[in-house]
Amino acid sequence: MEANFSAQILRAALFAARAHAGQVRKGAAAEPYVNHVIEVAAILAEHGAPEEAILAGLLHDTVEDTETTDADLTAVFGPVIAGLVAEATDDKEKPKEIRKALQISQAPKHSEAAKQLKLADKIANLRSIADSPPANWNHARRIEYVGWAGRVAAGLKGVNPGLDALFDTTYRAALARLASEMP
Ligand code: ZN
Repeated sequence: MEANFSAQILRAALFAARAHAGQVRKGAAAEPYVNHVIEVAAILAEHGAPEEAILAGLLHDTVEDTETTDADLTAVFGPVIAGLVAEATDDKEKPKEIRKALQISQAPKHSEAAKQLKLADKIANLRSIADSPPANWNHARRIEYVGWAGRVAAGLKGVNPGLDALFDTTYRAALARLASEMP
């Protein structure tokens, strides 16, 4: 790891902003996609996650959702960061329901840094599902997502107590929000 962490963070943020240029979140607010990865990195930084997890947090959706390859990340950020992003990347060749089942079964097997990264990602996604859900997601689909996120998170907890607590708070808030919007 280079000495100047601020420079690395900004380099990763710029890389992510360029990679995700033109992409927006599915939510009604149609936020720029890069807002999501900055939120994930901020959650990690605020809870004392290791530097490599924060950097990978900024880059975690580039391989899954942009033209960026694992080799690109390795060349620019090195094998540790690229490896963490790989742990957070779903195999899009597989059907969606299989990918969702794999996230649950693989969660306990990830490295400690990847567990924290994936938990922060789920926290950010739960906030989005509660506050700015995709326009085409009905109430039942939002509830189903929250339940699935809870099952994935169960296998990610136990590394960073502050993140575990934030997940639980966010999970309960999302369920309360959905209960209040019950059709
Ligand atoms: Zn994400």
